[in-house]
Amino acid sequence: MKILVINAGSSSLKYQLINMETEEVVAKGTCERIGISGGKLTHKANGETFVIEQELPNHQEAIALVLKELVDEKAGVIASMDEIDAVGHRVVASGEAFTKTTLVTDEVMKVMDEIAELAPLHNPAAILGINACRAVMPEKKMALVFDTSFHATMPDYAHLYAIDYDDYKKYKVRKYGAHGTSHKYVSGAAAEYLKRDAKDLKIITCHLGNGSSISAVDGGKCIDTSMGFTPLAGVPMGTRSGDIDYAAAEFLCRKKGMSMEDGLAYLNKKSGMLGVSGVSSDFRDLTAASAEGNYRARLALDMFNYSCKKYVGAYMAALGGLDCVVFTAGVGENTKSVRSAILSGMEAFGIKLDENRNDFVGDGEIHEISSADSKVKVLVIPTNEELVIARETAELL
Ligand code: ADP
Repeated sequence: MKILVINAGSSSLKYQLINMETEEVVAKGTCERIGISGGKLTHKANGETFVIEQELPNHQEAIALVLKELVDEKAGVIASMDEIDAVGHRVVASGEAFTKTTLVTDEVMKVMDEIAELAPLHNPAAILGINACRAVMPEKKMALVFDTSFHATMPDYAHLYAIDYDDYKKYKVRKYGAHGTSHKYVSGAAAEYLKRDAKDLKIITCHLGNGSSISAVDGGKCIDTSMGFTPLAGVPMGTRSGDIDYAAAEFLCRKKGMSMEDGLAYLNKKSGMLGVSGVSSDFRDLTAASAEGNYRARLALDMFNYSCKKYVGAYMAALGGLDCVVFTAGVGENTKSVRSAILSGMEAFGIKLDENRNDFVGDGEIHEISSADSKVKVLVIPTNEELVIARETAELL
């Protein structure tokens, strides 16, 4: 069985064709600059990289080009489209409308349109991608795999905001979380690595990248996560503020003469590591600047590490114990100083890092970085969101 995984952005479209027998990526690539001039497809297959520069006026043309490459004599990996058994689409937000992977139908797409406003930067792009695929491959079965599904198991007292309950019911304003496919993948991979049943494990998963979120996973189920109604909440991020007092945000808007929309853009795009450091949103730049003595870069990193540490502590309490901490994504997999700072001084809670084991930059492998006598295992696990999407799609079929 082969599954085509599609992750559509507003001007880009990433894809992977995965062989489910071996879970190997047979081909993958990215279409860039869809709908703007200078379209480009980068396709990797058969150990080679193929680049096609061609205008891509819309997502439909982009997906048509991808399919053409997949069956191409030289760049192709399948004889015909018949070899693609189904398509799995990544969707950022599901609201309360969908709590699990869902087969695409006209009805489902109607609901997708209705909930698009929940993730205005992401969901409309996914809809473009899904509609394009339906137009080009009308006979294929397609699944929607939501980033929020893994968090649907959070109990009410964890996912609700303390606002008028009737407003929650009416407007569905609550915590939904994000990065769910990643938290699901790494918590499952941790259980596999530890040769334990996921049902018996209490795990804290730290997805630390440009966007970051931390989840508490009890017996394979998410019980809490740091992101909220949108991915603005939780720890400070590359350009996002993370948790902030609403009154402080409102005060800032008044003082700076910003509208509500301006204020939201300020908190989403000009805050976080970038805002505090004034240097960059990128942890590599921040680490370098901090090493050269830049106070604000050091401060941004300290704030990030401290915030993550507090979430780890809070989730340890929520879980009532802890077996394993997992780091993943760009920062989690690559930045040893961050991992070390987050878990430093937690020996009293049974967490002890081995700094020699922690001394590496991500190489695509799983690393155990806790010391031999640490009660809590600490793992670095490269995430694989596409594989989760493919697995869920195959399972649904
Ligand atoms: P996104 O949320 O955009 O998917 P990533 O998970 O790719 O982000 O994480 C990007 C972050 O990872 C950047 O801040 C980057 O500095 C950091 N990072 C640190 N070291 C590396 C590295 N060796 N390779 C890639 N990213 C790294």
